[in-house]
Amino acid sequence: MTSSPRANSTAQWRHLDAAHHLHPFSDTKALNAEGVRVITRAEGAYIFDSEGHKILDGMSGLWCSAVGHGRGAIVDAIADQLRQLDYYNTFFKTTHPGAAELSAAIAAVAPAGMEHVFFTSGGSEAVDTVIRMVRHYWASVGKPDKTVFVARHNAYHGSTMGGASLGGMAPMHAQGGLPIPGIVRAAQPYWWAEGGDLSPEDFGLKAARDVARAIDAAGADNVAAFIGEPIQGAGGVIIPPATYWPEVQKICRERDVLLVSDEVICGFGRTGEWFGCQYMGFTPDLITFAKGVTAGYFPLGGVIVGDRVAQGLIEHGGDFNHGFTYSGHPGGCAAALATLKIMQDEDLVARVKCDIGPYLQQRWRALADHPLVGEARMVGLIGALELTPHKATRAKFSGEEGTVGQLARDISFREGLVMRAVRDSLILAPPFTLSEPEADELIATARRVLDATLAEVRLRGLWGADLV
Ligand code: PMP
Repeated sequence: MTSSPRANSTAQWRHLDAAHHLHPFSDTKALNAEGVRVITRAEGAYIFDSEGHKILDGMSGLWCSAVGHGRGAIVDAIADQLRQLDYYNTFFKTTHPGAAELSAAIAAVAPAGMEHVFFTSGGSEAVDTVIRMVRHYWASVGKPDKTVFVARHNAYHGSTMGGASLGGMAPMHAQGGLPIPGIVRAAQPYWWAEGGDLSPEDFGLKAARDVARAIDAAGADNVAAFIGEPIQGAGGVIIPPATYWPEVQKICRERDVLLVSDEVICGFGRTGEWFGCQYMGFTPDLITFAKGVTAGYFPLGGVIVGDRVAQGLIEHGGDFNHGFTYSGHPGGCAAALATLKIMQDEDLVARVKCDIGPYLQQRWRALADHPLVGEARMVGLIGALELTPHKATRAKFSGEEGTVGQLARDISFREGLVMRAVRDSLILAPPFTLSEPEADELIATARRVLDATLAEVRLRGLWGADLV
């Protein structure tokens, strides 16, 4: 019998990792050459690596650690649940208390008229569930031709075949035979990159009307749904102009096309409302969620289903031939119930809306005075810095796109702050529990990062030859 390999030093962990671990969204060869960072511990808004560095977790893990790290109450709730009932499924005429209670708890905070929940293990499975559920809904109510999905360029909807196909990430489509058929594309409401001379408001309407164009080109009788993130997260924290979502809703309603809000990032408080659709002023038919619902303590996601679709499925759908072994896992339900309790007891959604959100936003927006920053945007606790050599023209750097973003991201990690790079922007989504001194530290570090990046950009001649 061989025992499993254990290690207790950075070098040993790196060795095992390089020898055996294939990382998601990574170039393994390059990563192994550089040497991976080993995160060993987390507390509150901070993570710690195996070398003892303390790093402010400006991305809440992967947009999930909303209530902060090291919450004993959630850990205890999971442990108590697993001792009582480690696992049972919800497929064959059974449920368990956690699944029943969590579906009701989610319905209680969901927008009005959304009373039902289907559970998955994460966001990608939730998105795939939407594809099958929505098509099955239309077939069940006598419109089997309504199968096409409209989704946007540069959207992120997960990594499964369905999710990555609905997503609009060209590098993902280039691998593995994507996208699956039955998806048409609409423009993204990305004013900074694509708005040209239009005002943000006019550009928002223009981008929304591209959804109408896409639906009409496919024929509304063939279109099942439009899916979008209220704020595109992985695409670069793209906050649509206020005109965008109400117009998209109008377009979908007029054409009897269902509206799906992918709230894997925006859901459960990130925008200062329980759901991003509430912040953006629209009412979806379905909501996908994951991440923040358990604050990352246990994998769980799902779909919140509005009354129209739920009643259609319940009355006419018969068996829904779909589900996951871990749909409504007891541990995940316990984690979510404990997370929601913390969010409610500590009034964290209101804290994002009225307290730490505005506090950080004001200081974040002030970073726009830095020579490298073209736009500093933030809603609730989700934001981005657009880096540019020339603010007025929103110009790109010379050299390969993304070089400056990666440079800034690496400097940031080294300076003790996790920010993520998307092309040549930096994005941020810190925990809702961030304190004011921590927010001050975050901003001071970000400024140091920008200064160091600027120096490096000049040194490497990336500024753009014709720009001063
Ligand atoms: N949808 C959106 C909007 C996301 O941001 C993500 C993950 N970042 C997903 C879906 C996929 O979720 P998961 O990684 O849990 O499968």
